[in-house]
Amino acid sequence: MNKKKKKTIKTIKVDVDKCNGCRTCEVICSAFHATPKYSSNNPARSRIRLIRDPLRDMYIPVHAGEYSDAECAGRDKYVIDGKEYEECAFCRASCPSRDEFKEPDSGLPLKCDMCEGEDEPLCVKWCLNDALVYEEREEEVEEDEQEAQEEMEIGLEALADKFGLEKITDAVARMGEKDR
Ligand code: SF4
Ligand code: SF4
Repeated sequence: MNKKKKKTIKTIKVDVDKCNGCRTCEVICSAFHATPKYSSNNPARSRIRLIRDPLRDMYIPVHAGEYSDAECAGRDKYVIDGKEYEECAFCRASCPSRDEFKEPDSGLPLKCDMCEGEDEPLCVKWCLNDALVYEEREEEVEEDEQEAQEEMEIGLEALADKFGLEKITDAVARMGEKDR
């Protein structure tokens, strides 16, 4: 029988009505993840992107989610206040069908890591309009080590297929340097 374990679920609640499109979240996220840390800021490297429609005063922050090796077979199309937005406009995934959430130089997928090591996600801390609010809760889940191991292997295999082992190894080496 699988053991139970506590898992911390981290959430960033997004209140789009409070977002004014300042893009500070993109700047701080890309600076935090620069190598060396804070050496540059380029929103294209941010793990949060702003979908902007200034004429309608509409700004929607979207955090980068999982990498997907395959395009979705079905797509979402949103209509907000009568305006139809592009397919995939609000999707969190890094996937082959679009350029969002990809590291501009290497093309490697970007994913929000909740600013690992920080007390609070930096996009939340720097959002002066409280459009982003950090929440944490504990959930009890089954401990299934084999499943976790298999998921990790599938993820690594997909990345290696897509980008080649050499690129992945380089990226991991760079991350190691960043942590030093
Ligand atoms: S920092 Fe806050 S208000 Fe500014 S764009 Fe990001 S979410 Fe919106
Ligand atoms: S939580 Fe951190 S990594 Fe995620 S989008 Fe915000 S600043 Fe970037």
